[in-house]
Amino acid sequence: MGDSVPATVYLVGAGPGDPRLISVRGKELLEAADVVLYDGLVSPLLFANLRADLEYAGRATEDGRKRVLQPEINARLIELARSGRRVVRLKGGDPFVFGRGGEEAAALAAAGVPFEIVPGVTAAVAAAEYAGISLTHRAHASSIAFVTGHEDPNKPGQTIDYDRLAGWPGTVVFYMGLNRLGRIAAELLARGADPATPACVVSRGTTGLHRTVSGRLDDITDKATAAGLKAPSLIITGACVAERHAIDWFESKPLLGRRLLITRPAGQADEAVARALDLGAEPILCPLIEIGPPDDWKPVDDTIDRLAEFDWLVFTSVNGVAHFLDRLFEAGGDARRLGHLRLAAIGPATADALAARGLRADVVPQTFRAEALAEELRPHVADARVLWAGANIGREVLIEELTAAGATVEKVAVYTNREAESLPEPVAAHLAAGEIDWVLLSSPSIARNYARLSGRYPTQSPPKVAAISPVTADAAREAGLPIDVTAAPHTWAGLLDAVRDHVAGRLDV
Ligand code: SAH
Repeated sequence: MGDSVPATVYLVGAGPGDPRLISVRGKELLEAADVVLYDGLVSPLLFANLRADLEYAGRATEDGRKRVLQPEINARLIELARSGRRVVRLKGGDPFVFGRGGEEAAALAAAGVPFEIVPGVTAAVAAAEYAGISLTHRAHASSIAFVTGHEDPNKPGQTIDYDRLAGWPGTVVFYMGLNRLGRIAAELLARGADPATPACVVSRGTTGLHRTVSGRLDDITDKATAAGLKAPSLIITGACVAERHAIDWFESKPLLGRRLLITRPAGQADEAVARALDLGAEPILCPLIEIGPPDDWKPVDDTIDRLAEFDWLVFTSVNGVAHFLDRLFEAGGDARRLGHLRLAAIGPATADALAARGLRADVVPQTFRAEALAEELRPHVADARVLWAGANIGREVLIEELTAAGATVEKVAVYTNREAESLPEPVAAHLAAGEIDWVLLSSPSIARNYARLSGRYPTQSPPKVAAISPVTADAAREAGLPIDVTAAPHTWAGLLDAVRDHVAGRLDV
């Protein structure tokens, strides 16, 4: 506060829906931000790994968020900048295109607050390209008009010249027009537009819920209404629309239109989300367990000091690897402290986490379960001293079986695994409405938690359930959840491929 120079405010375009379409500059600024003020069109997936505080600043939404008025948003941006916090104002698509970013910039300029503008991919361009439409197709369009459909064509004082749009030499894209589609089409037809002009509506373009309905100017309204398209949607008219089937690459994605719950703990879902997006799905993050540091580091530090006493170091999760090795490093040690130890990993992801730190697992069982790990270790551990870097909770099978094989086993809890107390709000709403297609379970504790929490939202059409491994599938069944597919290999990529195969009708899993 006080006399210091205000921080710079960044007006950033988030892109049209697919979270990977934000610019590199935009992503860097988001990651560095203290506070992000976002609107309702921004993909929540962009928030997954941010340290910033999030504040909603947009229109009222279906899921109950209240409208924040423009003067309040402007005032808030100025206040935050003056308090020295790094502020990103994140807006769907491009911040200026039908986005009032210009007004926000003007308010900042008037208040003497420095700002920068980071353009975004605007919905018209992105949704069209994901629908296979070239807005400036050389044979059909020498111009594009971006038009707001928000103004009522019958209202006196409206500023859109429908006479000119009816004779427009190219493509017209209406933003914010879904509710007025009938009136817009009627107005264009009344002003002499050809009824056979190709037209389409692209709903939720570039997201996993992307849908396109195409027709002609004289039937598009009925078709779009019959299809029950939802906002946000764009209306595109012009001959270029007719060419789209030759290149509608996105609409053949195998999981398009499916909402998947990704139950990975926060901060560890990137790979799963990326794979889901590649397959055209709509991933929704639903962390069911929270991974945190141990309540007390002392036992971990003591074990790190006593590493010389052990022969084997065993990891049963990526979290175990990360927490143990990070702590060792922070305490001033490095991989040389493990030089005398042999290493075991329960599965490929855990082995990969070791490899990422320059360490190769000596033992990785074929199947991802504690019994298999014990089986593999048995010939090596008679009289050996084994250290298991694991979680505060979990199965004790490993200890029992290795002890029976003659080993001395010590377990140290290098992280805690806490159960979520409720499902995230949007997930609960979608579940209750029967709008989740699949839930992807990646560990027994996640499976048990999901069964417990989802039981509170009974629905006629519960999601199908995919399990990462037989152990996870068993835990789910014991908790009352029928399993539709079990992945092989037991990785997130394997899990998503199993769902894809099931959807494609290849039910061999
Ligand atoms: N600044 C945004 C537009 C904001 S106006 C941009 O540059 O894209 C809001 C309108 O944008 C919606 O009513 C809809 O017409 C359009 N829109 C935004 N995202 C969209 C999407 N993913 N698919 C289709 N239309 C979208």
